[in-house]
Formats: sequence, C-alpha cells, structure tokens
Amino acid sequence: MDKQQEYVLRAIEERDIRFVRLWFTDVLGQLKSVAIAPAEVESAFEEGIGFDGSAIEGLTRVYESDMLLAPDPSTFQMLPWREGENGVARMFCDVLTPDGETVRTDPRAVLERQIARVAEAGFTCYVHPEIEFYLVNRGTDGRITPTDHAGYFDHVPGGTAHDFRRHAILMLEQMGISVEFSHHEGGPGQNEIDLRFADALSTADNIMTFRAVVEEVAMQSGCVATFMPKPFVGQPGSGMHTHFSLFEGDRNAFYDPTAQYQLSATGRAFVAGLLRHASEITAVTNQHVNSYKRLWGGDEAPSYVCWGHANRSALVRVPNHKPGKAQSARIEYRGIDSAANPYLAFAVILAAGLKGIEEGYELPPEAEDDVWQLSESERAALGIGALPTSLKRAVGAMGESDLVADTLGEDAFEFFMRNKRREYRAYDAQVTDFELSQFFPRI
Ligand code: GLU
Ligand code: MG
Ligand code: MG
Repeated sequence: MDKQQEYVLRAIEERDIRFVRLWFTDVLGQLKSVAIAPAEVESAFEEGIGFDGSAIEGLTRVYESDMLLAPDPSTFQMLPWREGENGVARMFCDVLTPDGETVRTDPRAVLERQIARVAEAGFTCYVHPEIEFYLVNRGTDGRITPTDHAGYFDHVPGGTAHDFRRHAILMLEQMGISVEFSHHEGGPGQNEIDLRFADALSTADNIMTFRAVVEEVAMQSGCVATFMPKPFVGQPGSGMHTHFSLFEGDRNAFYDPTAQYQLSATGRAFVAGLLRHASEITAVTNQHVNSYKRLWGGDEAPSYVCWGHANRSALVRVPNHKPGKAQSARIEYRGIDSAANPYLAFAVILAAGLKGIEEGYELPPEAEDDVWQLSESERAALGIGALPTSLKRAVGAMGESDLVADTLGEDAFEFFMRNKRREYRAYDAQVTDFELSQFFPRI
C-alpha cells in the first residue's frame, strides 16, 4: 500500500464515507460508475474490482470479458452533491486484464500512451479547455427551449445562468478543479466555463467530472444541460476550444521572444502537424452526425484548415500570452466540440502536433482574412483546405490514417469506426421534418 492509498483509506474513515464510486469512460466518452463499500477499497487497490468489460462500449471483445478496475488514488474526491452524512467519494480507474495488464482500448490508457510518447520526446503537455454548453427546459411534449434569451457576456439579473454558474463553479472547486473564467455565451441559454490548465490526463479527467457536475447542478436548478454540439438551428454550436503548450522542464517550449507572435519553432511545427492531420483526427474530435452542423453552421466554429492570430475563423489560433508571462504561451485548437471523448481527442491532437515536431513540418502562412468570406478559388490559391463536411467523410479520412490507428490502437480504432458508420447510416435512413415540410405535396 503506498502513501496515497493510505491517505484514501484514512479519508474514508474520517469523513464518514459510505460509498466509493469507481469511474471510468467508454470509448464513446460516456462516464461509467460502480459504487463499492468502503470495506472493499483496500482490496480494490491490491487486486482491482472485477466487472464485465464486454458490456462496455468498445472496451473489449466478448470472449475476453473479465476486466478489473484499478482505482487511481490521486483522483480521490468527495462528491459535493452527496456531502454530509453517508458521504460519497469517487476515484478514476485504469482498466486492467485479469493478469494486471493495461487494457489498450481504455481511453485513459490511450491518452497515457500518448503522454508517454510526448515525454519520450522530452516534453510535458499542459492543457486547458473552454467548455460551452446550453441550459434548456424540456416541455411535457419533449420540446426543448433555452432557459433565457441572453447573449455573449450578457449579465442576466435573476436568471438561471448566474446562479447556475456560481453553484457549478463552487462544486468544481470543492473537487479540486480550478475555474478561470465563466460567462454567458452567444446563444440563448448558452454558457461557457473555462478550466485552469493542468497536465493532459488530469484535464481529461476534469472534463468528465465537469460534465457530471454541470448535469447535476442543472437538474437541481430544474433545467437540463446539454453538451450536444448544435442543439438549435441558427444558433451557435457548443465548441470545446482547447489550449495546448509543451514544456521542457520549466521552460515553455512554445515560447520564443524573438519569433512572430512569440511562437517558437517547436510551436510552429506542432501547429503544422495539427493542420496537416486535421481531417484525419476530426472523426475523433467531432464524433457525432450533429457535430458537422456546428462545424458548418457558422457562428465562429471553424470550417477551414488554417491558422491565425486574432482570426476567429481559423482552426488553430495563436493567442497573445498573458503580459509578462511567457509561461502562458500556447496554441488553441478550435475544432473539437463539447461532446468529444476528451481522452481520445487529446491523444490524437497530441499525436498530430508531435508528428509535426518530429518530422519538422513547415507551417504555411497564416490566414489573415475571414476565410468564410473568401471564394473557393481564393481559398485554393492560399492552400486552405476544408474540414470534413460530414461524419461519413470524417470517418473516411480516419480510415486512411496511420496516425489515428497508431494512436488509438487497432481495437479502439476498429470499434470506433464501426460505431460511427452505424451512427451515420442510421441517421441517413431518417426522413426528417425538413424533408416533410419541403417535399410533401402541398394540397
Ligand atoms: N461557439 C463557437 C464554437 O462553436 C465558439 C465561440 C467562441 O469563440 O468562444 O466554436
Ligand atoms: Mg466561447
Ligand atoms: Mg476560444
């Protein structure tokens, strides 16, 4: 038993914890949870807790269904919505085979493998997300309507949004997750909460916790939170712009005071990797048929593969770092949406950036114009390609990608593509309200 494990056992006793939830994530990004009695925690640390892995999306094949959950004691936290008597705590878990080997399809393991590659190249990665989501009311007829009519940065006196954000942020901070900014976003009922940077694995864990907290607080406030990429026609979608930086020891490897926008040669090559592999990784960063309605629906979601500085139409942005703080130099990937599996999405983004560094890719010139306003031929002349326009095309690009196959590992790669093909085929088979309204005979 190591020190962290001992700390967890002590905390369980001192804080009157009656249930310990073991959390992990399936390949599609759904949080999974099993509660164990406090008396079981010691053996969970020593031997793991058995479960049927074949019942979890993408984790394993039916003939090798026995799996173990190995809790990570550094992720031990109380659930603030279950505090007081008979408290509940949680730990994230790694998924292991009965022989104690890592299950390669576990999304946490996929990201851990990629972080190890980044470490071999001499870097530590820091990440922070800007998470957008909508708060909606659901009527008895099932129709959803936004909770308010406010817009970007609006102060809404007495509205759901303020109380909601205050409540959600306090809960997140109680769970050790620091929040940097929060505000009303552009759409009615749309909000954004930005987490403080952390290492890539902690940030992916934090995003899973964030979704659980936000859904919980919404329910307590009598509304529903949705991370769906584009819930309303004609309103902005919900992106999860994510900022990345690489450090070599204490030095920010993306910072060079003499370079354009202070972005170092390493940073430029990382961005070049993101751009070159953007189409291949899009099925992972934008995994639903609905994701493409955000990417191609305007309202500051990126559709074209280019980079810029202040340019809000670019896929990758090089923001100003905080004055006097070289450590905050970073790049922002704006493609990813709020419904992505954060472990897999970060893994493929890091793989693309690292490839750019390892192969010394050249960064093309920045896009200075609003790329949506350019004509097709102007974009072609500037060498600006498009992101996939549908899940089907994105899966097609992923299928050709050695980079994504190597990063996810063969089983997760194959499962993911099979699942996504099923999704777009089921979607394509629908007859929609739009078609009925347009093509039904007008009599
Ligand atoms: N909602 C926009 C998106 O889908 C982003 C708006 C912003 O720049 O924060 O990417
Ligand atoms: Mg935003
Ligand atoms: Mg942003």
